[in-house]
Amino acid sequence: MSRLPTFKGGIHLPEYKELTEREKIKKLPLPPRVVIPLNQNVGSPPRPVVEVGRPVKAGEVIAEPEGPVSSTLHASVSGVVTALDLFPYPAGPDSLAIEIETDQNDSSPELIPSISDPSRLSPDEIRRKVLEAGVVGLGGAGFPAQVKLDPPEGSRIEYAVINGVECEPFLTVDNRLMLEETGKLLAGLRIIMRATGAREGIIAIEANKMDAFYKVQAVVHKEKDIRVRLLKVKYPQGAEKQLIYSLFHREVPAGGLPSSVGCVVQNVGTAIAIAEAVLSGRPLIDRVVTVTGPEIKDPGNFRVRIGTPFQYLLEAAGGLPDGEIKIISGGPMMGIAQATLNAPVIKGTSGLLVMRPVSRERNLPCIRCGECLRVCPIGLIPSDLGTMADKERWDDFEGLGAENCIECGCCAYVCAAGRDLVQLIKLGKAALASRKVQK
Ligand code: SF4
Ligand code: SF4
Repeated sequence: MSRLPTFKGGIHLPEYKELTEREKIKKLPLPPRVVIPLNQNVGSPPRPVVEVGRPVKAGEVIAEPEGPVSSTLHASVSGVVTALDLFPYPAGPDSLAIEIETDQNDSSPELIPSISDPSRLSPDEIRRKVLEAGVVGLGGAGFPAQVKLDPPEGSRIEYAVINGVECEPFLTVDNRLMLEETGKLLAGLRIIMRATGAREGIIAIEANKMDAFYKVQAVVHKEKDIRVRLLKVKYPQGAEKQLIYSLFHREVPAGGLPSSVGCVVQNVGTAIAIAEAVLSGRPLIDRVVTVTGPEIKDPGNFRVRIGTPFQYLLEAAGGLPDGEIKIISGGPMMGIAQATLNAPVIKGTSGLLVMRPVSRERNLPCIRCGECLRVCPIGLIPSDLGTMADKERWDDFEGLGAENCIECGCCAYVCAAGRDLVQLIKLGKAALASRKVQK
């Protein structure tokens, strides 16, 4: 395994995937209500087109795209719109959302007639169907999928890559999807290749998911233009630039897109959602979430409607343990600690992790050990970035390449002084962005 492809820097983490990796995806019953935030995609949030009191059906459009980088939102359940207001949001302060009280009619969304041969569709038709179905990157970034399927003019896509790395500890959504929905994954990859003109498809899997590797390999082995590549287990192997480097030894330039080096990358769940959107017109109204943690009674992988409150999902996993706990939306490295269980599952919610808080001495003076430099996968100087952000020396902060930081958390993980490096860098990047807007 030591010769498997990888990238520079990074860290080896305890995985904890054994808690849920063998748990088949379970469909969660409908919650009594859902709260669907408008802000679920990179770019402009969609514009609501329903008012309070209006009955809606599962799969009906409730917000339409606003501008070229936006997406569509659908009612994830049938019921009645009960509010359009600020609600808890899992990735930041309260955010505008549409609340729907469920009528408990668990009907599937209305689908358009199925298409058996997507190769008859033009790239524009594929992108339109993906936009109409509201597909965004399900790995957490929320990038509108139709935008990624439309490479900038002049770029030539050689490789369509399915990111099946799932390098965050604890999370097993993509692992289960690769095992349970392999056919749809392959169909999604074919559609992505058709839309982008990629000549080869690659499905990249870390070497800690051998069951998924063998399953996917068995399905694609007769496909001449699709390969499965096994990668070394190292965090953050699943970050887009690191993945491209590991596979092809190509470096995406700072501020550049994968298309600049001939690649397009989509996560496993996104590729499956693309297949469903194009082949059967199914809108993105649910997703799979790993609910896990050492003290969770029934950890597992649950298919849940978008907008399901975290509280409801945690109860399905056996409820919360007694005592002080920390709840994280996402994985332990890049996830976001939650202040309330009223926040809902959004399209980018890959996991809910319940942990005991760890007490550790924090923010001691830097001992100049250089560990953070050694592990930074981007080649930045995290110790200096943290210092410049702390001192609000924004020109120096920017000069050190702060905007290229992918917020992976490797530097903070290894810091012997317990410095909150990622936190400082995140706040610094936000300050830099608002300084640019004001100029
Ligand atoms: S969080 Fe940023 S600075 Fe720290 S290791 Fe990751 S990329 Fe480097
Ligand atoms: S890892 Fe921490 S203590 Fe070591 S150089 Fe970096 S910031 Fe300083």
